[in-house]
Formats: sequence, structure tokens, C-alpha cells
Amino acid sequence: MRERLEALRARTAAAAVAAGRRPDEVELLAVSKGHPAAAVREALALGLERFGESYVGEAVPKAAELGGSGARWVYLGPIQTNKTRLLAENFSWVLGLCSHKAARRLDAQRPDGLPPLQVCVQVNADGDPAKAGLAPDRLDPFLESIQDLKRLTVRGLMTIPRKTEPEPATGAMPVTGPPAFTVLADLFAKHVAAGHPWNTLSMGMSGDFEAAIVAGSTQVRIGTALFGPRPGKPGAQADGEGAHHG
Ligand SMILES: *Cc1c(COP(=O)(O)O)cnc(C)c1O
Repeated sequence: MRERLEALRARTAAAAVAAGRRPDEVELLAVSKGHPAAAVREALALGLERFGESYVGEAVPKAAELGGSGARWVYLGPIQTNKTRLLAENFSWVLGLCSHKAARRLDAQRPDGLPPLQVCVQVNADGDPAKAGLAPDRLDPFLESIQDLKRLTVRGLMTIPRKTEPEPATGAMPVTGPPAFTVLADLFAKHVAAGHPWNTLSMGMSGDFEAAIVAGSTQVRIGTALFGPRPGKPGAQADGEGAHHG
């Protein structure tokens, strides 16, 4: 894992520098879903602190097993309203917020002893019917509708693009990355310019993080390229989640 992490850091830095950005502007979020607590311990020993999980049924026992280790948990799966209490109680961040009902529940269920839940709003930046997320023109009304929820702090935006296909003629992947990256980056910049105190533009996964960094990502969510292939998806069946995983 040390070698994979070093290679990832080198590629992240190279993509940032190529885009005229500082490498430390890009956080590497370790996506530990599908990997056991031992893998998280190994990553903690390498200095990683924040871990992404997509299945509540897998994440909650894993977080309990790693209690006191310093690991902090970021939820990045689809938010089911019957799971909001577990999210509010066990996670420090929730990416992928896009429903007013889920937002109200997370706000009401966030325990008083914890800081506000940090959230990113998921935008379906390329109109993919297979994905959750708000259409870009629904973002402002949504933000307005949740601004009185004091136990939630909006930190930015996230997106999961459509699967990119290689160019038919050459078989090469498009260098510019999925169009969703530039759509989301423009939306993010516009909202920051309008005064939203955001710092998180979460986009890019193992297969496309360099293009995401070039487009402006501040957080790449890396599972496979750090932990290796996922051995399984415990909890996936029970939660009915996983349709968006690629
Ligand atoms: C699983 C997952 C990732 C990590 O995917 P890899 O391709 O393994 O890097 C990133 N983001 C989300 C939303 C995921 O569900």
C-alpha cells in the first residue's frame, strides 16, 4: 500500500502542477468500502485519516472496530432516508446530499455533542439517469431550502460522472475527462464567487482522478488505486445500494 500511495501522490502532484495548481490543494480521500478494518489500519499508519464508505451496514461495524484509532468517516453512497440516523451518528462528512427530506432528517438526527455534519451536495452534472444528484438548475433552490438547517454545514459539491468511453477511432480515453467535471467546476466557482464559503469540489476516482484535478477537483476519492481491487461488498445486499459503483 505504501508504494501505491506514493505513486498516487506523485500522479496527483503531477496533474496539479500541470494545471498550474499546488499539489496540497487536492485531498486524497481513501475509499475503504469493501476492505476490512485491517486495511484501514494500514492506511492510518501511512498517515491517511479520512475514509470513504458507501454501505452503512459495512461502515458502522468497521468504524466501531476502529474506535479510538483516529479514523474519520465520510459517507459517499446514496442516502436512504431510513439510514439517516446512522449517518448522522457515525460520520463526520456526508457527500451526495440531494434530497430535502434527507437533509432535514440528518439535521434533526445529528447528535448535539458532535460538530455539525459536513456535507457536499451531489450534482448530476451530465444528466445521467442512472445517478442521483440535482440537475444544475435545481442547486440554488435546494441550497435555499436547507439554509436554516444549523446542524449541517455545506462545504461544496460532488459529482459522479457517466462512465467515459474510449474514443471509437483510437481507443484512447479522452484527455479532457468527462464533461461533468468542467460543468461541476464552473458551478462550484460561480457559487464561491457569489459568497458561499465552500472549499470542497469532490470529483475524480481511481480511473479519472488526473482529469478531475486538471478540471479543479479539491478532493479525489480513491479506492482501487490505493487498496487494490475490492474483495467484496459486505452490506451491499442488505442496503440495496451499489448501483452506481463502477
Ligand atoms: C467506490 C467509490 C469511489 C472509489 O472508486 P475507485 O474506482 O475504487 O477509486 C469513489 N467515489 C464513490 C462515490 C464511490 O462509490
